[in-house]
Amino acid sequence: MSTAITHWADGSAFPGESDLWADVTNPATGRITGRVALASRADADRVIASARKAAPAWGRMSLARRTQVLFAFRELLNARKDELAVLITAEHGKVHSDAVGEISRGQEVVEFACGIAHLLKGGHSEGASTGIDVHSKRDPLGVVGIISPFNFPAMVPMWFFPVAIAAGNAVVLKPSEKDPSAALWIASLWKEAGLPDGVFNVLQGDKVAVDALLESPDVAAISFVGSTPIAEYVYESASRHGKRVQALGGAKNHMVVLPDADLDLAADAAVNAGYGSAGERCMAISVLVAVEPIADDLVARIAERTATLRIGDGSKERGDASDMGPLVTRAHRDRVAGFIDSGEAAGAKLVVDGRDVVADGDQEGFWLGPTLFDHVAADMEIYTEEIFGPVLSVVRVATYDEAVALINANEYGNGTAIFTNDGGAARRFEQDVEVGMIGVNVPVPVPVAYYSFGGWKRSLFGDTHAHGIEGVHFFTRGKVVTTRWINPAARPAGGLELGFPQND
Ligand code: NAD
Repeated sequence: MSTAITHWADGSAFPGESDLWADVTNPATGRITGRVALASRADADRVIASARKAAPAWGRMSLARRTQVLFAFRELLNARKDELAVLITAEHGKVHSDAVGEISRGQEVVEFACGIAHLLKGGHSEGASTGIDVHSKRDPLGVVGIISPFNFPAMVPMWFFPVAIAAGNAVVLKPSEKDPSAALWIASLWKEAGLPDGVFNVLQGDKVAVDALLESPDVAAISFVGSTPIAEYVYESASRHGKRVQALGGAKNHMVVLPDADLDLAADAAVNAGYGSAGERCMAISVLVAVEPIADDLVARIAERTATLRIGDGSKERGDASDMGPLVTRAHRDRVAGFIDSGEAAGAKLVVDGRDVVADGDQEGFWLGPTLFDHVAADMEIYTEEIFGPVLSVVRVATYDEAVALINANEYGNGTAIFTNDGGAARRFEQDVEVGMIGVNVPVPVPVAYYSFGGWKRSLFGDTHAHGIEGVHFFTRGKVVTTRWINPAARPAGGLELGFPQND
């Protein structure tokens, strides 16, 4: 049975007038399970108009009332996250426990946004000048657009919309067309939580929908997450159209293992961070930098562990029978397999080959097993490209300085990690690397919600990271009010003075 996955505006679903649809597939079976609407400009205009209509009243609603809706949403999400996880596994392929995990990390941002009243407090200075008081406040922007990638259909939108909505904005979410159902489920949950119609909207589609958001004069800001070429395009186009924009791009995350590290801890971490979610995470470890003389030992320990991983259908009914699910589409699976061909041809040593994995699932699924390359060089395609699959490349270096130089020469700067028992080396690493998020004996250092998430260099275009206080600033703009109230006892006040006002 094929489900129609539609847009959502004014508090209800609608199919749109374009009559263009894209297939949505279950990656574990290869079967088409739904079709998602691809918006025309007119459809986009309707969704943006819904947000524009709702934004002023929502932005003026009291903080107490807005916060009540956030708390209600948090409770519903917490109680029903399993339902959402099932939808995610069916369209993305990640195993059920991993899908629950991404929702829980997104829920952290909802919980952070429940404290918006505290976060929006301004400053007040009485008597800044004689008889003059000054206070600051932060106002919502109006309508904001969120454009998200396929790999976290719940968590990535939740990096943004809880804060945007709590701060008084109306949202248009444009999810990935590969796994679009989560966004609609979230829209109906907001309705159940009591959010006024039009404050949260979903626009399904491809470039047409994205361009409509980037160009609309009614959209004040864009939060984008996806690959670097599209992030750069979105940043440039949205900026040209006068919008505030944060565009998070791709990654190539290095994990450095120093000779004094606990090699079992490092091997476990490399496997978890390299192959979790089939490597389709922007914080996945894709390069392991082994500082000699430990590489032989470390590679052997990783290879041993990959042999124990169970690849297969990750749906809830199968319990925890699989550790790693399929890749998102057949085309992506084939692209990643092509990188394995390329690494082999370039002379890297293929220690574990995932191309002929026997998966516990439908043979039409988009399977690819964990793959491990050793002796990878920095000029090989498997090193220079973001593969976004279960392929881990080991680069051997002689010194700590070489490891840092490699990381800093890379065009991306999303995440990195160091494994060591030497606190001094870890401290030096944190100062030396040009990367936004750093783990010390933590391979996937995704910041908690009250800190901000974002990379450096070509992993982020714009200057504001997601959630935390930076997120609050992104979705609000400041006002400073300078006030004079005349003290009747001190009359006469005022008088003519054309010089520039000075304080006294
Ligand atoms: P993508 O760039 O293909 O798509 C992202 C979004 O952009 C989708 O909504 C898609 O519909 C839209 N889009 C695609 N092509 C477009 C075009 N030509 N014009 C306008 N819009 C377009 O990314 P993806 O494959 O869905 O996701 C994987 C990528 O996202 C990886 O590169 C990964 O590193 C990155 N990612 C980064 C982060 C981060 O925090 N930096 C987080 C998650 C994913």
